[in-house]
Amino acid sequence: MANRMEALRQIPPMNDILRCAELAPFQTLLQTPFGRRIVEEALADTRRALLASSRVVSRDDLTAQISADIAGRARRALQPSLRRVINATGVVLHTNLGRSPLPKTALQHVIDVATGYSNLEFVLAEGVRGKRDVHVKRLLCELLGCEAAIVVNNNAAAVLLILNTLGEAGEIIASRGEQVEIGGSFRIPEIVARSGARLREVGTTNRTRISDYRRAINENTRLLLRVHPSNFRLIGFCERPSLEEFVEAGRERGIPTVEDLGSGCLFDMNSAGITGEPVVSDSVKAGVDVVCFSCDKLMGGPQSGVIAGKRVYVDRIRQNPLYRAVRVDKLTLATLESVLLSHLSGRLDDIPVLRMLHATEDALRRRAESLAERIGGAARPLPLRSVVGGGSAPENHLPSWGVALTVAGLSDAALEQRLRISEPPIIVRIENSCVVLDVRTIDSDDEATIVTAIHEAGRV
Ligand SMILES: *Cc1c(COP(=O)(O)O)cnc(C)c1O
Repeated sequence: MANRMEALRQIPPMNDILRCAELAPFQTLLQTPFGRRIVEEALADTRRALLASSRVVSRDDLTAQISADIAGRARRALQPSLRRVINATGVVLHTNLGRSPLPKTALQHVIDVATGYSNLEFVLAEGVRGKRDVHVKRLLCELLGCEAAIVVNNNAAAVLLILNTLGEAGEIIASRGEQVEIGGSFRIPEIVARSGARLREVGTTNRTRISDYRRAINENTRLLLRVHPSNFRLIGFCERPSLEEFVEAGRERGIPTVEDLGSGCLFDMNSAGITGEPVVSDSVKAGVDVVCFSCDKLMGGPQSGVIAGKRVYVDRIRQNPLYRAVRVDKLTLATLESVLLSHLSGRLDDIPVLRMLHATEDALRRRAESLAERIGGAARPLPLRSVVGGGSAPENHLPSWGVALTVAGLSDAALEQRLRISEPPIIVRIENSCVVLDVRTIDSDDEATIVTAIHEAGRV
């Protein structure tokens, strides 16, 4: 034991350790309480190791060891937890991977606007206080054909705010076939309950007629709600009123109609193989009083939710004190403004989500063939099916191409894990006991990185 205490005396003075060249990049960090804790933890571990071992270590070796240990801990501590990953799953709107990758043009606008001051709530022409919504309102009204629009944190917040404002202590009528759960515990009946209104369900799971809504309307009815069943489809013996019937049922009794459109499809996407997604402007044109949708689904924008429709209702919703709690910040507004400008000006190729969804099978096959060739070995191109994801277009599988990988001596699970922990992480799918990379969701700028990572992972 005395010997071991002797070993502890070999630990050099702190200043000697901190002078090591290896720690030069971390001098500022190591002066902070956070940095000092890193040093203390490294020293505590060294003491424990010295006491537990019978090895004799020279003071110089110990200095080198401890400084390398501190440098490693400092590097890890300073690495952001939120990191870029390469999505090779073929799921375009992958909620776990950040849903919609944002256009570089949009982020340039964010940098311009947000690293300094901005006219977020200031009318430059008049020098008076303004509203933060005006920047995107003009664009949304143009794109959707509506009178008014506001933006909130996400579509879940949009639904909550609409129902809380217009449902006030009354009843909301909605179909039993549309009591959906979106994921992340967004469930229509629960949101209605939290909004303070009562839910009156009409129809059955598979069939709801407009007469069901009409019969249920009474003096407590505050609104008629229609929800796009984003992530599932009713097929077979089923029925749902048309938009026109739905609008008419509200209009004839002076009750507002509200539609949660979910995926926020701004134009017909049939040409990309995406069917059954309602187009927002169609609902506005049909006369739905208030619509809402997500901006980080088919629109390809930042996480946020749009509430749009007739001015009387949108103004009331805007005046709800809860609006202040769910409004968006300048980063989101700047990103959204830029994405909306891309939509409005027809520059759809600026938007990564739309680029990926519209990629042709032919182009994807050529990319898969070239990627397989660059990887070499047992890599081979193969046809795949990508999905839209994000709870949109569940029945659509988009014909795609990818690369199937096998590495001798490595199981599919081991290869998947190696790619997942590489830098940057590469997230893949396993299909038929084979690791596959779908090129649809891979940025072509990342292909070289992928080739290198696979070669590294193959070094068993
Ligand atoms: C996705 C979706 C939501 C939730 O939208 P978020 O923007 O994720 O909050 C709500 N309703 C429908 C119909 C949806 O598809």
